Amino acid sequence: MTASGDPPLVGVVALQGAAAEHVAAFRRLGALAVEVRTPGDLDGVGAVALPGGESTTMSHLLGTSGLFEPLAERLAGGMPAFGTCAGMILLAAEVLDGRPDQRCFGAIDISVRRNAFGRQVASFEADLDTEGLDEPFEAVFIRAPWVERIGSSVKVLATVSPRSTLQDASATLAEGPDGLKYHRSVPVLCRSGPILVSSFHPELTADDRIHQIFLEMVGASVAR
Ligand code: GLN
Repeated sequence: MTASGDPPLVGVVALQGAAAEHVAAFRRLGALAVEVRTPGDLDGVGAVALPGGESTTMSHLLGTSGLFEPLAERLAGGMPAFGTCAGMILLAAEVLDGRPDQRCFGAIDISVRRNAFGRQVASFEADLDTEGLDEPFEAVFIRAPWVERIGSSVKVLATVSPRSTLQDASATLAEGPDGLKYHRSVPVLCRSGPILVSSFHPELTADDRIHQIFLEMVGASVAR
């Protein structure tokens, strides 16, 4: 809730990627959501979502649109944020396998590795046991990053144990019960204070429960 008691307006950063899908998910849940493209669009916005897409492109466009600095200031001031896939990369403290010129906000104390599940495995789906949800969440991963380090402030809400099919596997491998080598499970949904990040794309499926978790975190949930 805001000081006035009204639920905050959610601004979805819409420079590139799946922004319209986030707006639609928030609106399905009865929340107020708008697209944000310019610094002026941040006026009145009390929480933001950063969509999936391409973090290097978004980083570049955040610079050219003039949005990077005002958004960084608002995040440093404690504005809640939800980042999915590329959006998670942008909110992280450290990006591994990033482009040297790509920037991130450092809003959540995690290190993420881009395209960590490997180039051969461009996309996959997994049923995630998710803290706070009674039933598993069917998550869609597309050239997804994973979380390789978490700070002490960070709570892991879901993990995945991707089977290693990769030669360039960067994480340590563990032997599974079937004798195959698996990556140790890696966090794919994390929360720290008012920041929620996912490696996957809740905006690309009809299941709005992760968006609902964010709305509840920020007091923007509308009783239905
Ligand atoms: N690999 C992309 C990046 O680095 C993220 C992919 C996605 O958002 N689906 O930004």
